Amino acid sequence: MNFGQKIWILDGGMGSTILEHHQLSHDNCTPNSCLAIESLSESNPDFIADIHRSFLNAGADIICTNTFNINQLAPAHDNLIIANSACKASASIARKVADDYMLSHPDRKVYVAGSIGPVSPSAEQADDCMMLHLQQVRTLFDCNVDILLLETVIDIVWADAVLDKIFEEIKAIQKPVSVMLSVHVDNQGQTVMKQSREEIKALARKYPIAAFGLNCGNGAASLVDEIGYYDDLPCALMVYPNAGLPDSDGKYPDSPEAMARTLAPLIAEGRINIIGGCCGSTPGHIKAISKSALNCSPRIISTENN
Ligand SMILES: [Zn+2]
Repeated sequence: MNFGQKIWILDGGMGSTILEHHQLSHDNCTPNSCLAIESLSESNPDFIADIHRSFLNAGADIICTNTFNINQLAPAHDNLIIANSACKASASIARKVADDYMLSHPDRKVYVAGSIGPVSPSAEQADDCMMLHLQQVRTLFDCNVDILLLETVIDIVWADAVLDKIFEEIKAIQKPVSVMLSVHVDNQGQTVMKQSREEIKALARKYPIAAFGLNCGNGAASLVDEIGYYDDLPCALMVYPNAGLPDSDGKYPDSPEAMARTLAPLIAEGRINIIGGCCGSTPGHIKAISKSALNCSPRIISTENN
């Protein structure tokens, strides 16, 4: 995929959009409750398909599969089956929605990104956890995603191990899948595991990723300057912030207009290639962002050192 031709619009927060309509809780992490969001792809596929469609109608070029938490289970045999079944259902829905959308909108090319959420396992959990990741990656490939999106990364060391496996798999299956890496950072630009900007950038340079991004964060304003630190990376740059931090009722403070306004300088100054929203961002947010990106030029991707 060539991310240099225009500003690509990523969709908004899948988990938060689902939670707005469903009373689900992650408090007791039994297999079924832990995958409560992802299991909806099996129990209520039309609901998940409608969310994907609403993001495409709002202007998203890339929709993410409902698979963010798939790797959160203890990998007992039964759990592997539960996780795989939810992953397959989620990826198949996104693929079908995207394919149908392109049939009814022949002027638009849209893509499916297989979402892989964050984990930071202990040394004892690492082998088991990698087994879940590998299963997830293979299922996403089988369901013909265009992109693998390792997102909301909280631990660079673990992300390194996962990327290593992902590129091994891509080599083995010989499919043209783009890999995107997106990290969640605090106001000091550090990961949850307190890894620095330098360490994050070193990881982004280590693999032939198509895009590097920052997501979630503490609202759009927190990421607008921060992404500038990564401007010399020889890949596409991506930002998809949350709509601010939620209040005690779970409501996100930033309106579509406020979020689009905050992100506008990145777009107007040609500093970004892919832009969208994370937790709390709705189709309304994506519509506002997509409108402000219309006819604007993307950041020029340098191929130096690539
Ligand atoms: Zn988020």
